[in-house]
Amino acid sequence: MKRWDELSFYYTDHYEVPLPPGHRFPMEKYRLVRESLLKSQILLPAQLHPAPEAMDSDILLAHTHEYFYGLKNGTLSEKELRPIGLTWSEQLFRRSMGAVGGFLAATDSALEDGFSATLSGGTHHAHAGRGEGYCVFNDFAISALKLLGAQRVKKILIIDLDVHQGNGNSSILGSRSDVFILSLHGEKNYPFRKVPSHLDVGLPEKTGDKTYLSALADALSQIRSENFDIIFYQAGVDVLREDSLGTFDLSFEGVMKRDEMVFDFQKSLNLPMVMALGGGYAKPIELTVAAHTNTYSSARKFFI
Ligand SMILES: [Zn+2]
Repeated sequence: MKRWDELSFYYTDHYEVPLPPGHRFPMEKYRLVRESLLKSQILLPAQLHPAPEAMDSDILLAHTHEYFYGLKNGTLSEKELRPIGLTWSEQLFRRSMGAVGGFLAATDSALEDGFSATLSGGTHHAHAGRGEGYCVFNDFAISALKLLGAQRVKKILIIDLDVHQGNGNSSILGSRSDVFILSLHGEKNYPFRKVPSHLDVGLPEKTGDKTYLSALADALSQIRSENFDIIFYQAGVDVLREDSLGTFDLSFEGVMKRDEMVFDFQKSLNLPMVMALGGGYAKPIELTVAAHTNTYSSARKFFI
């Protein structure tokens, strides 16, 4: 296991995607998180690498030919694009390839070094044949199928703590026995039709720190004795009270305790972990950036 300052991380904000002014998707978040991590010296410049683009064949591990080439060639109809919530552009396609490439690179680094992360991703609403909820390609599903296909791991644990249920992860991976998806999410949050994970914990509106943390501790204790080879962590901070799309009532301290519980679980099982940023839509966006920064600060504590 390497020291924190020897670990590698990947960013995608060098891919610029044009969005109309006032668009709900906080594209600037990714740059702001990278800048915040550097400013607070949680990450050093030498640890940060631009995400490489995934290969077409990687995407096709989890997505249909029709959907992938429709996106690549810009031939998807307005109706097919609408659920994604982003306008098609060549840059959007390239960034989506970079987001997956970043997670794939982070997965390789995590297997080698014990921990790695991408400063974007966690695109858990993308299904095999369609994107949804700002998610174009499903980075977790692609990476899971690539690792399993190459027999580099036997079983993967996905811990998905974004406030939204990962319906895309479940629709692609939910029936597999070599993946285990744990999802804690808002029962009243989008997606309104959940696709079953291996363990779903749907919590009511206004769930606060105490209820949330005890539900998480309970879920982690249920899966502790299973044999996993790697953890994929979707560390969305849209569980925060201030989030504009989330229904929970978690404090900053609550989210930090959540992350510490996950990192402690990882450490106690001595498993490699790869982490993705996940959602965060607080207003102002600086609150979300602070919460993502806290996640990295908590992770670092477990590596020093
Ligand atoms: Zn979310």
